[in-house]
Amino acid sequence: MRRKIAAGNWKMFGTVADLSQIAAIATGADKAVDTLICPPATLIAAAAPHAAASFAIGGQDCHPLQSGAYTGEISALMLRDAGATHVIVGHSERRRDHAETNDLVRAKAGAALEAGLTAVICVGESLEQREAGITLDAITAELEASLPEGCVGGNTIVAYEPLWAVGTGLIPTPQQIAEVHGRIRAILRARFGHEAEMIRILYGGSVKASNAAEIFAAADVDGALVGGASLKAADFLPIIAAL
Ligand code: PGA
Repeated sequence: MRRKIAAGNWKMFGTVADLSQIAAIATGADKAVDTLICPPATLIAAAAPHAAASFAIGGQDCHPLQSGAYTGEISALMLRDAGATHVIVGHSERRRDHAETNDLVRAKAGAALEAGLTAVICVGESLEQREAGITLDAITAELEASLPEGCVGGNTIVAYEPLWAVGTGLIPTPQQIAEVHGRIRAILRARFGHEAEMIRILYGGSVKASNAAEIFAAADVDGALVGGASLKAADFLPIIAAL
């Protein structure tokens, strides 16, 4: 019932020359699943014409307000105006490098929903939290505080990205992923009732073609948020095919 989705987070990679990769991904991706590419904001308008029923373009961050005197910032409305339909909020690199709090992430997610975008809300435990055995508590606290009002299947995706797995080549076991996804599903149910069944939960952190099938087989995994391995069609298409 929940369509699988492979989401690519290009981070600060990609210039006009890389639009050919987006074209190749749009063309080559299995239409039975959803594919999302979140390129740098500079490429959104040029990438948007590739958007189709099962292929979407998204931003990587947005401001909590829709306009104002905020030099260098981009609002959810602007992303939508440029052709994006999704936006990542609360990525661990934003939380770490820009001191983004749960309150700010919740406001950004709310702004995304208000602008008609689907928010991809990221949460994840640190290595210290994992080793201290408090992963589920950490995820619970972070997610509950990062969710805005009004989340439904059509406007919200949650991405579980353990901080220690992002860009490191390390991944949790399928059992560890399933345990966290199960907790996330329970939190969504408690908050949004039956709508929670339609909200997709993605795993992210060092997903690549060689480990994708095993990750996707874990319970309650509706797809992946992929960084490095989403930049090239040759790397990303096999991941999409494994969904
Ligand atoms: P990675 O990044 O796939 O390169 O580990 C994932 C992410 O940060 O979304």
